[in-house]
Amino acid sequence: MKQNKQALKLSDPVSNLTGIGPKVAEAFAKKDVNTINDLLFFLPRKYQDYSQIVPIVKLRPGQVTIKATLSNVTSRRVRRGLSITQALASDESGSVRVVWFNQPYRAATLKPAMEYYLSGNFKLSSQHLALINPSCEVAGDMTLSSGRIVPIYSESKLLSSWLVRKAVAQALALAPRIRDYLPAYLLKNAQLDSLAEALTQIHFPDSNAELDKARRRFQFDELFPQLLANELSNQERRSQAAIVVDFKPDLAKSFVAKLPFKLTDDQRRVIWQIYQDMGGQLPMNRLVEGDVGSGKTVVAVMSALMAMAKGYKVAFIAPTELLARQHVATISALLKPLGLDEHLVVLTGSMKAVSKRAAIAKANKISGAFIVGTHSLFTSGVNWSDLALLIIDEQHRFGVDQRMSLQKQAGHLPHFLSITATPIPRSLALTIFNDLDISRLKQMPKGRKPITSKLVAPSEQVRLRQHLESELNAGRQLYVVCPYIHASESRENIAAETIFEQYRAQFKKHTVALIHSQLSSEEQAKVMNDFIKNKINILVATTIIEVGVDVANASVMIIYGPERFGLAQLHQLRGRVGRGQYQSYCYLMLSDSLSPPERLRRFIDIDDGFELSELDLSLRGPGAIYGKLQHGKGIGNMLTLDDHELITLVKSAVEQFIEKNEPLAKYPKLSAEVAAAQQLTNLN
Ligand code: ADP
Ligand code: MG
Repeated sequence: MKQNKQALKLSDPVSNLTGIGPKVAEAFAKKDVNTINDLLFFLPRKYQDYSQIVPIVKLRPGQVTIKATLSNVTSRRVRRGLSITQALASDESGSVRVVWFNQPYRAATLKPAMEYYLSGNFKLSSQHLALINPSCEVAGDMTLSSGRIVPIYSESKLLSSWLVRKAVAQALALAPRIRDYLPAYLLKNAQLDSLAEALTQIHFPDSNAELDKARRRFQFDELFPQLLANELSNQERRSQAAIVVDFKPDLAKSFVAKLPFKLTDDQRRVIWQIYQDMGGQLPMNRLVEGDVGSGKTVVAVMSALMAMAKGYKVAFIAPTELLARQHVATISALLKPLGLDEHLVVLTGSMKAVSKRAAIAKANKISGAFIVGTHSLFTSGVNWSDLALLIIDEQHRFGVDQRMSLQKQAGHLPHFLSITATPIPRSLALTIFNDLDISRLKQMPKGRKPITSKLVAPSEQVRLRQHLESELNAGRQLYVVCPYIHASESRENIAAETIFEQYRAQFKKHTVALIHSQLSSEEQAKVMNDFIKNKINILVATTIIEVGVDVANASVMIIYGPERFGLAQLHQLRGRVGRGQYQSYCYLMLSDSLSPPERLRRFIDIDDGFELSELDLSLRGPGAIYGKLQHGKGIGNMLTLDDHELITLVKSAVEQFIEKNEPLAKYPKLSAEVAAAQQLTNLN
């Protein structure tokens, strides 16, 4: 039995609301709406403005609302599966025909002499203009679907917007019980709606102005915890004394003189910025962005030089063991001419205990060790008290928890340098990531051949095979990337295991191997080594090879199920080829010949990662790219990051909050949001 309304609580299941049975509750659950509280935060996707009531004589075709009485109501079954209910709607100005298809129950509910709001499409029907299938509610009641700005929700088979409106209208009675998680003085100064008010108006706006005000509140809520988190960590950083690392011009000169290439101007500029940061009194917090192949490794190594020369430790964290090992090889080659390769220490989780102990001992013994590994470095037992520089590969933000734990071990905050091939779009950099200093490597080293990218329809796959054959016969290697490891019904033809078998059958003369995350790290390393040594011609993989893997002889990247990858990821994958002297290709294997999504069509024409990141943001919105923004259910993507007025508003609120100097713990929900905003961030 349903509880009566008096007894409803925010934490009750939605099925406690009138009109919601188990089936509908299940449909809600699919949208992550379980409780009444969840329902309140299940925000409309868009609105239909039925608030303008038009006199009947003035009706023009389109979506309209009238306020009228109904007469001559008839209902008849025209044939099986089609019934027509008609009525004459009249107001002081005139009359109009109303038609409902397949809604026979209407006739019984309509009462003469009652005034109704009717909202719907005014258009031609059987050669006469009529109001077709309008929603119809008694005028004077609080209407939900007519005579107002009507909310449209994300629907499903059992879940119509009409039904959601009915449920939300009941839930809104509880809105005043929701505790606002922002301090009242901030709301007042920023002239923002209370949460209860904003929820009421976002579901059932009284006017467009009220709707804008409610939206403002939710936009504010998306940005405030993030910018507060940034400011708090900036303050923390500014309160720490850095290890000052002096710049030694002679060392830089002799390193550069021994490089097998000339640094690009961008590389010089960025290295110079880093030297200035590290020579300063505050710990550096810098992100270096550069497309695949733009030469970020040498920038990282040059940053490390000065610290090593002063006898300080440097740590380099790679996202996977595979990459850590590859980096060791590259870094070692760069340090060798100066005899500094002796300082290199590798420390990964899968190493045998004996080797681990030896590595730790070496790191602690020698002066100026350069330690390369994965995140497990921080629990390894290395003495970090003389750690001057921490380099993080492919992670935009280093999690606060990790930073704190490291800081505790080290007794100080080291300089941070992040390097990444996934640039942060400008507007995100100015807002969400405004605690990072960003350097960009836009120039590519000379002599890079652009990669040819193509969409391949299923019908073109046979022709493609000839091209692959000729690349293989010329001695090149291929990558084949799939979004999944195992096949299942829906992903049969894009699973790595399936594709592996296909390629094995099709390219009998060549060696085909499979690599994915479910292999042990020794197995992975063996496959990768064989590929690097050209003992494997075709490597079928998952995105495990996304970042950093470097095989100059590979000239073709084939991607199955490209619809399932983000643009940044596709670009990363594409960057695995074109690393040597050979013309290289990237093929996106479409699952069907229907028109491919716009982003894929644009992708094949854009080879600049910075441009792609802006495109991705404009096509998908900040919520999709930067998931953390979604602080409540259904809220997300409300932000327009180039809304300078909003950003100014939020920044000023952050200042006010910090000035008040209240403990964050006084606001538990805000505190949790801030903590979430401070966690590790990777753009996807
Ligand atoms: P990424 O930015 O993708 O990490 P790497 O640092 O691996 O790029 O550099 C890619 C390749 O380009 C390496 O083989 C590196 O030695 C080479 N390289 C780096 N800088 C230059 C340069 N200025 N001129 C020519 N080659 C360079
Ligand atoms: Mg790299």
